Amino acid sequence: MSRTTHCEEHDAIVIGAGISGLYQLYRLRELGLRVRVFEAGSDVGGTWYWNRYPGARFDSESYSYGFSFSGELLQEWEWSEHFSPQPETLRYVNFVADKFDLRRDIRFGTRIVRASWDEAALAWEVEAEDGHCARARWLITAVGPLSVPQLPGIEGMADFRGPSFHTSDWPREPLELAGRRVGVIGTGATAVQLIPVVAETAGHLTVFQRSPNWCAPLHNAPIDAGTQARIKAGYDAIFARCRASHGGFIHDADRRKAMEVSAEEREAFYEKLYGEPGFGIWMGNFRDTFVDEAANRTISDFMARKIRERVRDPETAEKLVPKDHGFGTRRVPMETGYYETYNRDNVRLVDLNEAPIERITPDGVLTSGGEHPLDILVYATGFDAVTGGFDRIDIRGRHGQSLKEKWADGPKTLLGIQISGFPNMFTLVGPHNASSFCNIPRCSEQNVEWVADCIRHMRERGVNRMEASEAAEAEWTEHVHESASRMLYTKVDSWFMGVNPNRADKSRRIFLLYGAGAPLYREKCEASAANGYEGFELA
Ligand code: NAP
Repeated sequence: MSRTTHCEEHDAIVIGAGISGLYQLYRLRELGLRVRVFEAGSDVGGTWYWNRYPGARFDSESYSYGFSFSGELLQEWEWSEHFSPQPETLRYVNFVADKFDLRRDIRFGTRIVRASWDEAALAWEVEAEDGHCARARWLITAVGPLSVPQLPGIEGMADFRGPSFHTSDWPREPLELAGRRVGVIGTGATAVQLIPVVAETAGHLTVFQRSPNWCAPLHNAPIDAGTQARIKAGYDAIFARCRASHGGFIHDADRRKAMEVSAEEREAFYEKLYGEPGFGIWMGNFRDTFVDEAANRTISDFMARKIRERVRDPETAEKLVPKDHGFGTRRVPMETGYYETYNRDNVRLVDLNEAPIERITPDGVLTSGGEHPLDILVYATGFDAVTGGFDRIDIRGRHGQSLKEKWADGPKTLLGIQISGFPNMFTLVGPHNASSFCNIPRCSEQNVEWVADCIRHMRERGVNRMEASEAAEAEWTEHVHESASRMLYTKVDSWFMGVNPNRADKSRRIFLLYGAGAPLYREKCEASAANGYEGFELA
């Protein structure tokens, strides 16, 4: 590529100043590299910067989510709740950025729209929407797996008279909900956090549900002083526990199978999990829950009973019980009073299977059952998951090959971290990488450290170019699909499977994550590095 305009020169470019991008900056700086991070937002935080809807909070225990690399940071920062609310999390990310003086290497308000590999110069050149140009030997994407909001493309959306927005574009200025008629379209993890909070203040709330999800109680609580002290003294054990678990959480599967115990024992176990905070009921359940349909049915039946107990109107309860997929085969939304919300007089659940949306009108939502008048309309309609953040950048590798075209039939990567044809580019929390199916900071720290070690290795040996071999990439891609094939979540439509009915290519159905677990993933990354980065061509 040749240019006449000025182009900044760096050693490494990182796209994104969220949790992963910030840590990558910190690590590469340690190696003495000149690093530039480009961030579309006006400040740090990534997902926690964008997602400011009421009720947004961690579903991971706060103390299992923070960065683990600095003992000093761990002791200085105090989480106030077991599951931190978004404003506190954003303060935390800012605290980290300030403590390690990260902002000086970040150019904010800069959305990268193009990235091309220059084989002659062995460098990447990136270009931002505003024409800003930068070049570097290494390109690291930290664009996030859930960063591209998806609006549903329903007819008439532009006609709505009142405020209407996607959850990740929640207005920064205060939005008066009191006395207003609010509509929420969608019932995924975002909506399930939002709905109970909105219901408390809105005059009336209408929830438009296409598919119910199996939601589990979060049981959030403030962290008292004694617990705070135990957490601070116990970080090593907390991180060791996360490291050993399948998904980087403090919860890991019970070693028993569901049918190995009596019905009474099973029921008691489910009750215990249901009463405990966090993802235990999902991640800490019987080990065959997500591979064996009969085992899965036992927990699904238990969860359905809970919904029927908690929702007073039997017809509404029935609408909230998923019928097309088993518990935990899609991402489990964590809830605080979600089901009780439907017992309120000011809340109405509209089942879109009975009465599909026909169009958005200036005054509300028109379904086949009639018009629902609204003052505010919220689209909690999800994201173009995992590959979306890549698709919106025109990434060109060797011989100008387009990444979007290469991935047209689904991602192909090696270890979910590099792509054949795209030398010196690393994809943090990318597709087919364990980080995208994990307590993200736990797994992304591993990604970041692996990349930093790899770049150090290259520099020490005078290696200027590294590229995943086609054969190793094909083998990894096959391993990803083969290891996921037994899992029940590959039989169900969700963003895990790249299914999003709002995408242009509605027919795509391909597993986007890595399902064999973070420990095995880490082992495979370490084995490759120990064997001189086996599977990669270094030159
Ligand atoms: P999502 O799980 O993809 O849910 C989107 C919702 O919108 C679904 O209920 C979907 O219905 C509905 N929808 C989409 N298009 C529609 C249309 N045209 N008409 C009617 N309904 C429509 O998205 P999300 O709730 O934003 O969550 C995405 C992910 O973000 C989660 O799975 C989770 O990983 C992450 N998240 C994390 C946290 C946390 O950690 N604290 C919080 C929130 C979200 P269908 O199911 O029928 O398509």
